[in-house]
Amino acid sequence: MSLAKPPFVAGNWKMHNSLAETRALIGGLVPFAAELQDAEFVVLPPFTALAAAAVALAGTSIGLGAQDLHWEDRGAFTGEISAPMLADVGCRFVLIGHSERRQFFGETDASVRLKIPAALRAGLRPIVCVGETLEERDGGRTMDRIGRQLDEGLADRAPSDFPGLILAYEPVWAIGTGRTATPAQAEEVHGFIREKIAARAGNAAATCAIILYGGSVKAANAYSLFREKNIDGFLVGGASLDAASFCGIAREALRAYKEVQ
Ligand code: PEP
Repeated sequence: MSLAKPPFVAGNWKMHNSLAETRALIGGLVPFAAELQDAEFVVLPPFTALAAAAVALAGTSIGLGAQDLHWEDRGAFTGEISAPMLADVGCRFVLIGHSERRQFFGETDASVRLKIPAALRAGLRPIVCVGETLEERDGGRTMDRIGRQLDEGLADRAPSDFPGLILAYEPVWAIGTGRTATPAQAEEVHGFIREKIAARAGNAAATCAIILYGGSVKAANAYSLFREKNIDGFLVGGASLDAASFCGIAREALRAYKEVQ
């Protein structure tokens, strides 16, 4: 079971949702979020929908975040969006190092390392994604890969930065594939991530750290995953595009959480 934190559930909308679809999806989420008050909800729409989402979320407890950012605050970087711009539009969170950014858009541990302080400077909470490929898992290199992503991405972080950071373990082979890590597989990596945080920032920081699991999470597997000690919530892709599915995940996580209260 979890280290007794209320579930944190973030929805990565990826490249989905027009303005009208954004308003409709948030309109569907708000009543569920009001009913599931013990869970923390965050939505991560595409850049084009952030302003409309901020308006639709005003007065609710649902947080807003973006899916990426540039590491500089301003400048000649055509097509890029900075952390101050995200804060200005109402974001409180930002994904960094998502595996799709790593796979298709040249994100590296070095760029992750630069983006994290940019987010923190602007008061955004980074959700830093790590995860191994199927080849790495089958080759017994999962912990090497995750360890390297953490060591390089978090290399400059001081212990005082850690309360602001959220980590997300997302095995690449589980994202959008319908294939979820078993609770035991996920827990093994989550425990490893928590140990790495303890080594870098101390036991108190490690205990408080929020470590999410992502990869084909749905209501049907959320309860058993959240029962694991080191799983504090979920980063959800496909199932976050439907209000009932997304909130069903939070409901199942809350059911597991309440069993230990
Ligand atoms: C994701 O994109 O972060 C993700 C976990 O996607 P899915 O839930 O669709 O596997």
